Amino acid sequence: MHTIRVVNSDHLPTFTNGDILTNTEFDKRHIWHPYTSATHPLPCYEVTGAEGVNIHLASGETLVDGMSSWWAAIHGYNHPRLNQAAHSQIDKFSHVMFGGLTHDPAVRVCKQLLAMAPDGMERVFLADSGSVAVEVALKMALQYWACQGRPDKHRIITPRNGYHGDTFAAMSVCDPVNGMHSLFAEVLSRQIFAPAPQTRFGQTFSEDDILPLEELFARHHHEIAALIIEPVVQGAGGMRIYHPEYLKRCRQLCDTYDVLLICDEIATGFGRTGKLFGCDHAQISPDIMCLGKALTGGYMTLAATLCTEDVALGVCQGEPGVFMHGPTFMGNPLACAVAAESLALIQENHWQQQVSNIETQLQQELARCGELACVKDVRVLGAIGVVETHQPVDVARLQKIFVKAGVWIRPFNKLVYIMPPYIIKPEALSQLTAAIYHALHEG
Ligand SMILES: *Cc1c(COP(=O)(O)O)cnc(C)c1O
Repeated sequence: MHTIRVVNSDHLPTFTNGDILTNTEFDKRHIWHPYTSATHPLPCYEVTGAEGVNIHLASGETLVDGMSSWWAAIHGYNHPRLNQAAHSQIDKFSHVMFGGLTHDPAVRVCKQLLAMAPDGMERVFLADSGSVAVEVALKMALQYWACQGRPDKHRIITPRNGYHGDTFAAMSVCDPVNGMHSLFAEVLSRQIFAPAPQTRFGQTFSEDDILPLEELFARHHHEIAALIIEPVVQGAGGMRIYHPEYLKRCRQLCDTYDVLLICDEIATGFGRTGKLFGCDHAQISPDIMCLGKALTGGYMTLAATLCTEDVALGVCQGEPGVFMHGPTFMGNPLACAVAAESLALIQENHWQQQVSNIETQLQQELARCGELACVKDVRVLGAIGVVETHQPVDVARLQKIFVKAGVWIRPFNKLVYIMPPYIIKPEALSQLTAAIYHALHEG
């Protein structure tokens, strides 16, 4: 029998060996959740099942999902074809090491990725999470320049309000304030931050918007390896939707000054913004591209870093001659098999109409939130709807209101936002938008 140490704490359930706790009690006491306090954790709801756009709770409620489990479950939960792909693969083999071995699921998913990706992407590195895909992209960029005899090009430039993951190199390019760089000042690489793009999607592009980045390139290009940016939508760093011309200018600056362009499409990829990739709004191709989140349709963790032939050859030129990265679960066959089926679903192209319909409905139904005194801004692009408030919201309180209204929406800071599965029906989407309006109206 295990012994579980009891820590004195007045706000957490304490128990002694042999006590019976419910799952949520045990969870609250012992399990970390994303971005949550160990001493004052937000309430968690126990899930017993999910299908389509519905999430079922142990308490008996059914919630309409507004989050796609953080951009991932684009086809909805418990999808028969994705299930089938997982079943077929698990009956063959779940995993083999990728060092020296390959398999059909990995080949299929990489073939599809290259067929879908912007022009010029030729090589795929399969990673096990988005953050790792970003680490790999940054490492490729640094190694590329080191192998060209330019070790002085070792810094990364990026706009503020970015989010690229939680591992250390990824953190170094997240927004310095949101990413709490001061806390890790001694360990994080000091990157170069440009102001966040200001011109909104759909406005007239203002030349002033790109000037600070131009100045930084002119001043620092000799030490810059790469620019990393989330195309068109800055996600977790503020849910900001900016003008594609900014991205186009980024491409031009990178070309002019010999800097690699890394597009982090982990959130924006696979149709979420109304185009297959965020890059497509600006008709540009990056040198390195990160994909993740929706890659397996939200079934399991898998990510990919794609690059051009030039980058791949550059990285492996001279010493050490190889790219030094290889996760244990690289190319996991189960994840690849599901991803290949998810990409096949995307290639059937229903997403385009679905995302376009969601966009129209979000624009119509979220607009009235803009009339609420607590609301600063409402913005929509593709299947993403954002309501920004003046003050940070009380997440626990709002979440309770949302659950009562039969929806799953997880706000953070001043952002109440939704990015539902593409398969959502108009009535269910209305339930989400009405819940946002009423929750903010009450608050
Ligand atoms: C979520 C996200 C990541 C990190 O992905 P994980 O799988 O959570 O490690 C990186 N970049 C962007 C743009 C993201 O949205």
